[in-house]
Amino acid sequence: MALERTFAIVKPDAVKDGHVGEIITAIEQSGMAIRGLKRVQLTPAICKGFYHEHVSKGFYQELEDFMTEGPVVMMCLEGDGAILKWRDLMGATNPANAEGGTLRKRFGANIGRNATHGSDKPESAAFELSYFFNAFELG
Ligand code: UDP
Ligand code: MG
Repeated sequence: MALERTFAIVKPDAVKDGHVGEIITAIEQSGMAIRGLKRVQLTPAICKGFYHEHVSKGFYQELEDFMTEGPVVMMCLEGDGAILKWRDLMGATNPANAEGGTLRKRFGANIGRNATHGSDKPESAAFELSYFFNAFELG
């Protein structure tokens, strides 16, 4: 399997609820390496650029309100097949459909407030990592 980097966010709900440590523990136990990490307060403009593929959708304003309601913790994760590995660790977008033990099942409330973000493919990972991290922030 190819060594990959992916982009992860602990969303405002999970930060506020005090789940950053448990999510980082799950990442470390998965064998992936954290190559970058920071806590950031998103703004509406930054959120629109990040979620550009969703801006025209009906749920976008609610998503932006949620993603800007408090700080997030964002990470660059690296490992063999890291993109799919992180998506598997998160579980389905809707926590109601997520497998038991996944982060969204454990910490998500509903399809909007679902605790974590993960890139869905290599092109998204490359865009999202470069959108939020400078080269010197990724070790
Ligand atoms: N979302 C939502 N309603 C929907 C679909 C998505 O509020 O019907 C939110 C949810 O927070 C999700 C994010 O928008 O994580 C991005 O949606 P996407 O379909 O890309 O899901 P993901 O890749 O995060 O699983
Ligand atoms: Mg997505």
